[in-house]
Amino acid sequence: MRIVLLGAPGSGKGTQAKRLKVELGIAHISTGDLLRAAVKAGSPLGLKAKAVMEAGQLVSDDIVLGLLEERLARPDTSQGFILDGYPRNLAQAAALDALLVRLDQPLDAVVKLDVPDADIIERCKIRFEQEHRADDNPETVRKRLAVYAAQTAPVADFYAGRGLLTAIDGVGGIEVIGERLLAALRTRANA
Ligand code: AMP
Repeated sequence: MRIVLLGAPGSGKGTQAKRLKVELGIAHISTGDLLRAAVKAGSPLGLKAKAVMEAGQLVSDDIVLGLLEERLARPDTSQGFILDGYPRNLAQAAALDALLVRLDQPLDAVVKLDVPDADIIERCKIRFEQEHRADDNPETVRKRLAVYAAQTAPVADFYAGRGLLTAIDGVGGIEVIGERLLAALRTRANA
C-alpha cells in the first residue's frame, strides 16, 4: 500500500508509521528524519535546512522533493510506503502527484491523525525533555502549529476532494490509535 499520514507535529505520525512499517512490510519515509540526517551529516543541504528547521518553518520545496525522489528510488519502496511529514503544503501535494504519476505508483490512502492543539503542546513538551529536539521547545512548537494550520491543513482538503482522505481520532494509547489506523486502511483496501 502507498499511504500518506497527515497530522500536526507531535500528532503521532512517526510512532504510527514505525508500527505500520512492521505490520505491512512497507517503507517508512519521514522527510523530517531525512532532513535531520542531512543536518547531522553537515552536508551543504543540511546546513541550509538547519536554521529553517530550528525556526519551525518549512524547508524549501525543491530541497525536500529532491530528498524524497532519492528515497523513493530505493528498492525497499517496491511493496509500498508510508509518507510521514510530506506533503506539507499544496505545492508539495501537486509535486507528489506528478512524481507518483511518473513512477506509476498512485496513492491508496491518506489518513489524518486528529489531535487537539493542547495535547500537541503537551506531547512535544515531553518529547523535548526526552529527545532534546531543538524544534520541540514550546515557543517553536507554537510556530510549527501555526505553519501547520496555514499551509498543511489545506492538504487534507486536497485529498478529501479526491476521495482519498480518512480522518481518525489521534487521542489515546498508541495501540488503540494503531488499531483505528489499521481499520481505516482495511476499509480503504476493500473499497
Ligand atoms: P517533522 O519531523 O516531520 O516534524 O519535521 C521537522 C521539520 O523538518 C519541520 O518543522 C520542517 O522544518 C522540516 N520538514 C519536514 N518535512 C518537511 C516538508 N515536507 N517540507 C518542508 N519542511 C519539512
